[in-house]
Amino acid sequence: MRVLVISDIHANLVALETVLAHAGSYDAVWCLGDLVGYGPNPNECVARVRALPGLICLVGNHDKAVLGEIDLNVFNLDARVAIAWTQREVSRETLAYLRALPEAQQAGDFTLVHGSPRQPVWEYILDRFIARENFPLITTPWCLVGHTHTPVIYKEISPDGDCDEEAPDYRRPRSLNGERLIINPGSVGQPRDNNPHAAYAILDTGARTWEYRRILYDVAETQNRMRVARLPERLASRLAYGW
Ligand code: ZN
Repeated sequence: MRVLVISDIHANLVALETVLAHAGSYDAVWCLGDLVGYGPNPNECVARVRALPGLICLVGNHDKAVLGEIDLNVFNLDARVAIAWTQREVSRETLAYLRALPEAQQAGDFTLVHGSPRQPVWEYILDRFIARENFPLITTPWCLVGHTHTPVIYKEISPDGDCDEEAPDYRRPRSLNGERLIINPGSVGQPRDNNPHAAYAILDTGARTWEYRRILYDVAETQNRMRVARLPERLASRLAYGW
């Protein structure tokens, strides 16, 4: 089965459509949360995602904030402004869909969470030390996470969870066989690895390979929509440099 793995769309419909057009054929889609927040098209992104084939979709911290399930004071000012804007913008249908999303899911040999196995909505796996603390909690060989907006693989190298950090290789698919891994596909709608191209991955569950991909989308169009919506300028400008 070919699975399109996406995360952190953040209401960036232009980036999402570009990824979906670039991905080629796939049998299923796994979306690791944060469909909304930051970007200008929350309702359109939710409608697009929920219609995708074989979908497993998780809730992220921004989705929960829009639902009013998280105190906005934990977010920085620009994020708070964007969440408040999104709360005014979203339809009842969008809210109902987001409210029903799970925090974690298991799909075959894969554990799926937005943040981390330890705190599915909140914790950022930002380095191998945090990854190490999470490995013992993972009961499947592989765990997929989003939330940091940075594509990366953590590989367990000892039974107590010691691990290495591996940068994404865009040249060829990576075999998953025989290793315990925490894998982040990066962000569709707001990459934060100094690369503005939308990030996603193709997982082949039969061949057990992971293929990192990047694709340039029309950043200026998303920025234009954000400015028309009067979303914070910093959130629009950062898309141009992928941070
Ligand atoms: Zn996010």
